[in-house]
Amino acid sequence: MASQTPGTECQIGTARPRRIAAISLHTSPLDQPGTGDAGGMNVYVVEVAKRLAGRGVAVDVFTRATSFEQPPEVEMAPGVTVRNIAAGPYGRLDKTALSRYLCPFVHGVLRAEAENLSGHYDLVHAHYWLSGQAGWSAAREWGVPLVHSMHTMARVKNMSLAEGDTPEPEERVKGEDALVALADRLVANTDDEAAQLVNYYGADPNRISTVFPGVDLETFTPGPRARALRRLGLPADTALLLFVGRVQRLKAPDVLLRASARLLETAPHLRDRLVVAVVGGQSGSGCAEPDLLSDLARSLGIADVVRLEPPRSRAELAHYYRAATATVVPSYSESFGLVAVESQACGTPVVAANVGGLPTAVHDGVSGVLIDGHDPDDYARVLHRMVTEPAWRDRMGAAGVRHASGLSWEATVDGLLDAYRGALERCRLTVPCP
Ligand code: UDP
Repeated sequence: MASQTPGTECQIGTARPRRIAAISLHTSPLDQPGTGDAGGMNVYVVEVAKRLAGRGVAVDVFTRATSFEQPPEVEMAPGVTVRNIAAGPYGRLDKTALSRYLCPFVHGVLRAEAENLSGHYDLVHAHYWLSGQAGWSAAREWGVPLVHSMHTMARVKNMSLAEGDTPEPEERVKGEDALVALADRLVANTDDEAAQLVNYYGADPNRISTVFPGVDLETFTPGPRARALRRLGLPADTALLLFVGRVQRLKAPDVLLRASARLLETAPHLRDRLVVAVVGGQSGSGCAEPDLLSDLARSLGIADVVRLEPPRSRAELAHYYRAATATVVPSYSESFGLVAVESQACGTPVVAANVGGLPTAVHDGVSGVLIDGHDPDDYARVLHRMVTEPAWRDRMGAAGVRHASGLSWEATVDGLLDAYRGALERCRLTVPCP
């Protein structure tokens, strides 16, 4: 029988882990976000781990090693260690192939824990369903609770696929079903996601904690637009429409390009000062979305205004957001939408699809505009207003700064510590204290 978790304080209501194992199997927190499989989840894991460590909760993040040159452990920040576990061939693997390597991955995690002299883990927090499978095995072996964050859900994704997208496999749906049944606590990014866990997966509402993700309010700050445009080598009167994120069908950067073409049809005088920037790298196996985008820009006759930019660091991104007239997030599905919050924190309004977490991330009509559907004409109309009504646009920008200030990573960590308490209590109630 599992024993009480080592190092866990034993008063119900105050239980707090001292050391947790975070699992991020398919993508490392050390990867550059905005390309391949690295995106908001990577940012989430990094920001949360650093702040948990700052509050005295040590975090080890387990991820699959993708190169034999990676050392088994890397100190990412004080109190945060990334553990690279050899499992399967080195190199990037398509997510759909990764379930084959769950056994060696779990074996590697258990061995790393057994050889580690720093002490045991009090709790496992797994991110994404593949990590959840591994996390559940580890948590069971160690007799500690499993907290699981889906980040995205197959059933939800499959209901809102972009044209030509491949549906998520049944294996993932079944894996997520199992996690909903087994995890001690589920963390949802929004109330909407919590409701989806209940409605589409039959989750017990009492085991769900809704914890909003956050934004780094020190990096993403407002600043003068003209100066930011200058840093990007653009004139002060530029109307910059910005897309930031992984370039994939689900994120629909093509909608921004089509909307920009419509905008120029109706307002050709804007051509001299319009720039459409897509910042981010290819995501998804086998497709060359950035190439498809440049073909699309050519076929729409707007290649001269479109800039396809490689993924940028967080500090560089802040300049892009500050320089933009509007950030456009036309996704078909979005668990939360960190990009939308980062943009608002920099004082730039967001024009986004009314899907997933975006209604939480964006205060519709106040800090941005949410649009039902993906009709480029609808986006073009709002973008035209953003470009031609600066007072309206600036009011929204200022409201965005206020909206984003309520979404700090510190608040996320407060919510997670509550969720961890709930998981530790549940575990204690089902496992007798020695
Ligand atoms: N990102 C980045 N550099 C880039 C493009 C994106 O650091 O060039 C980051 C972006 O700032 C955001 C994350 O990647 O924090 C994307 O998160 P989001 O929630 O918007 O989308 P997801 O990737 O989770 O679908």
